[in-house]
Amino acid sequence: MLKKRQEMWEHVIKAAFFDIGKTLVDDPVPKAKYAVGRFLAQKGILKSSSLGDFHETLTLVNARIDSYQFSHFWGEEEIFTSAMSSYGIHDDRLVKQALAVYRKEVQRLYQTDPSLKALSNMELASLLSWLHDEKGLILGVISDERIASIALYWDVLECGHFFPLVVTSEEVGCRKPCKQIFRHALEVAKVRAEESLYVGDNPIRDVAGAKDVGMISILFTKFCDPSIKVRPDFTIDDLRELPPIIDTLTSYPRDG
Ligand SMILES: [Mg+2]
Repeated sequence: MLKKRQEMWEHVIKAAFFDIGKTLVDDPVPKAKYAVGRFLAQKGILKSSSLGDFHETLTLVNARIDSYQFSHFWGEEEIFTSAMSSYGIHDDRLVKQALAVYRKEVQRLYQTDPSLKALSNMELASLLSWLHDEKGLILGVISDERIASIALYWDVLECGHFFPLVVTSEEVGCRKPCKQIFRHALEVAKVRAEESLYVGDNPIRDVAGAKDVGMISILFTKFCDPSIKVRPDFTIDDLRELPPIIDTLTSYPRDG
């Protein structure tokens, strides 16, 4: 459902930036964590009766142990070390194996479970082609992901070639909503904030962050139900709602 603020836009749109987590893809942890439990049970390390508790622990630890350069979707060794140590497992080799099992499952889920993607790869390619080829927009990503994790997303989404510009919190040294990460992306793209839009799921990190530097903010709600009241410029629950928004924004002449 498109909710548009009634405003006149004074500038041509030159760039569109996207968040990745819970925007291009949903959170895989709720489904992928079961592969880790199965792996540890098959090894005889966890009893089947404790698997439910272990899965809950993995979820909680994933939320608790944090860093601006962590990938919560693809997993971090520190998170697995902590979760497994609370079950008396202190074997570094086993932690690495469990992490590898988890990442393999994330990749499998992204490739086989359509509900984990905002659009099918073909639909996403079609949208990004339209934005780039038809509308002439520079396309970029501003993400709190690790630099190394970006390639994993492009593997499963097959859309990395559409994004010449990728800015991560690990690279810049701060996380959204810090202004620095948005400003860095704008500088690299050589566009002004008001000539750019940002699409993301998080009301604070994405919407407030983009708005604070003057970008047009689009809240994407397919994978979340934002409870914090913010006032994005647009709200969408389907990325296919972007073209009419872009057409609206670019229908006004530069001098408004
Ligand atoms: Mg996100």
